[in-house]
Amino acid sequence: MTIGRHIEIRGVVQGVGFRPWVYKLARTAGLTGSVSNDAAGVVIDAFAATEHELDAFLARLRAELPPAARIERLSWAALAVAQSPRSFEIAPSRAEGERRPSIPADLATCEACAREIADPRDRRHRYAFTSCTHCGPRFTIALDVPYDRATTTMATFPMCPECQREYDDPDDRRFHAQPNACPRCGPTLRLVSNGDGGEVGDGDGDALRRAARLLASGKILAIKGLGGWHLACDATNAESVAELRRRKHRDEKPFAVMVKDLAAAERLVQMGEAERDLLAGPAHPIVIMPRREGAGEVALEVAPQSGTLGLMLPYTPLHHVLMGDVGRPLVMTSGNLDSEPIACDDDDAFERLALIADAFLVHDRVIASRADDSVAVVAMGRPIVTRRSRGFVPGRITLARPLARPSLACGAHLKNAFCLGAGDGAYFGPHIGDLDNVAAYEGYEKAIERLEGFLRIRPEVIAHDMHPDYLSTRYALGRPDVTRVAVQHHHAHVASALAEHGLEGPVIGVAFDGTGFGTDGTSWGGEILVADLAGFERVASLRPVRLAGGDRAIEQPWRTALALLDDAFDGDSPIDRLSLFDHVPRSEIMAVRRMIAAEVHAPLASGAGRYFDAFGAIGLGRPRVSFEGQLAMAWEQAADPSETRPYPYAVQSAEALWRVDLRPTVRAAIDELLSGRSIGTLAARFHETLVAATADVVRAVGRSRGTMPVMLTGGCFQNVRLASGLARALASDFAVYVHGHVPPGDGGIALGQLVVADAGVRSRGGVACV
Ligand SMILES: [Zn+2]
Ligand SMILES: [Zn+2]
Repeated sequence: MTIGRHIEIRGVVQGVGFRPWVYKLARTAGLTGSVSNDAAGVVIDAFAATEHELDAFLARLRAELPPAARIERLSWAALAVAQSPRSFEIAPSRAEGERRPSIPADLATCEACAREIADPRDRRHRYAFTSCTHCGPRFTIALDVPYDRATTTMATFPMCPECQREYDDPDDRRFHAQPNACPRCGPTLRLVSNGDGGEVGDGDGDALRRAARLLASGKILAIKGLGGWHLACDATNAESVAELRRRKHRDEKPFAVMVKDLAAAERLVQMGEAERDLLAGPAHPIVIMPRREGAGEVALEVAPQSGTLGLMLPYTPLHHVLMGDVGRPLVMTSGNLDSEPIACDDDDAFERLALIADAFLVHDRVIASRADDSVAVVAMGRPIVTRRSRGFVPGRITLARPLARPSLACGAHLKNAFCLGAGDGAYFGPHIGDLDNVAAYEGYEKAIERLEGFLRIRPEVIAHDMHPDYLSTRYALGRPDVTRVAVQHHHAHVASALAEHGLEGPVIGVAFDGTGFGTDGTSWGGEILVADLAGFERVASLRPVRLAGGDRAIEQPWRTALALLDDAFDGDSPIDRLSLFDHVPRSEIMAVRRMIAAEVHAPLASGAGRYFDAFGAIGLGRPRVSFEGQLAMAWEQAADPSETRPYPYAVQSAEALWRVDLRPTVRAAIDELLSGRSIGTLAARFHETLVAATADVVRAVGRSRGTMPVMLTGGCFQNVRLASGLARALASDFAVYVHGHVPPGDGGIALGQLVVADAGVRSRGGVACV
């Protein structure tokens, strides 16, 4: 007798070698039937003689996945069997109307491919475009759906007979590997001079060997990669790194570094199990880790004044071979002028990088979609993705409640990433960056159009930030025939955490970041909300400070520090005794004081990020920053891990809003600073104060409103000390949630906008509300 089961699997199961793996598993187990892709995942019909065999098969399906696959849902139903098939086959894809097509995310080179390119006897020895069903480009080469060779930028490379044989053989690791190629038939590399465009080098060795020699001699190279161009130089050569900074107009923002392998990473940073898994996982993001004391191998100029280092491992065969040839860590930073989007078009790169790169390592495979390197940190032993792009995009996020109508969320102004959704699927687009210039805006429009095409989603609802002047808001207003919903920035942050964890609320949302447009027209960012998807109530906030000169106060934190000091000391602040003001002209100090007194061009802001700026500026004596968040990072790193006492603070209640008042904190910290207390102590006590004050308010909200889960969200929760401190402080009374694969900062906000807009559309019956 034969029994059968129809098995449906959802998750990351397409483009990752899942079907060939199921095929082998089934054959080994002696089952018959078939496996195929449908539009939403993989379906299997499996037949065996006993229930036990089928149970065992299911158990192995769940337990032994291919490296990049992930099962989100697996369901099965018994099949009525008249006659079972004689063998197990891979059946053609089933296209079903309503289901979403999917494009897989790009996958880092697998171990088997890495072994082949390192093997002098292999036909793919040193071949920079080696891939298989477990690894290689996906999203960045896709031009259309279904994801098939003909609809990728590999279509222009007809396979040689040997590659074709691999591609057609279900037993081969390259069965239906769309980017399959070899040196005979696939893309090729050239090392091109900056100038006449001719080949460079001494002619000895292939393009990669010559590129490695240039890098080792101190040159700066533009390298065409997977989702865009990198600028690379020898990370151990201080002069090269300084030169790259000069040419790229980048003052102090840390550069990412690529190292050969985990052992090389271990020499530079302190890492645990979670960091290792993240570095070597399928997405291969940049992982920010504490720098090892005395790890002199990497030049200080790579990450000036920073105690951390962002590392990544080689994720394409090109990187593997290059890193092997160079034999030292390389700076690998996005190929752009600072503030512009990463270059991905060849001509564009040649033009824009002409003043930066000494030579170009270029290949002839077109990059269809841009995807920057993703970035992650580890907090409390778990990864937090802070920039979600290459390797994650356009991965599916399953929503707890399906959207009423297909929707687009436009994202935030800074670190923009948009999000598309239909049914119970939400899909982030790639990292766009700051939407403050024409190039970024054009890239934004193009990326939205492309992802809508891939997913066959025509948005009927568009969610956008409340800020009237953001380019993303203007984009939303410019789209015809849609229902538009404006979503408050911090509500969106909390909702993004809700959606990531499959919750609907109500919850207590702690949303700490730099700036976001509040419903009262002021700038928010130190908010405690009671929220669900449909709405929120602002129950507490940090006492606002005045930002003299608006955005200039963000570039010059001494202005915020002055406002904070004058507020705390009632105009009698000891600025003459603080080194911060040594290099600020008296006239500017007077001007800022006048602006604040007159309340002219000095908006109120309650952002926790502004407090980090001000305290960091005072403690570290740094009046100016060269990038947003610089002082917040430095202040976190300065904090002494062994110091756990908070400073005094106050909580006041006014008009149904609790205000966390840090004026007592300012006074106590200045006292300590002037009596010679170490900066490490000050920074630690500042963190502890923010944790203690926030925990107090959250507990008070819990007492008056009932205990609810607590969501920690907003860019400040990339700060590991703040996130883990608050999570620990609240753990005994609340279920505390932090972000994981959805960024806590503005790069994750679009998911929240999406689900808030959906709740709004439902409650208003789909009436346009903006
Ligand atoms: Zn592979
Ligand atoms: Zn070939």
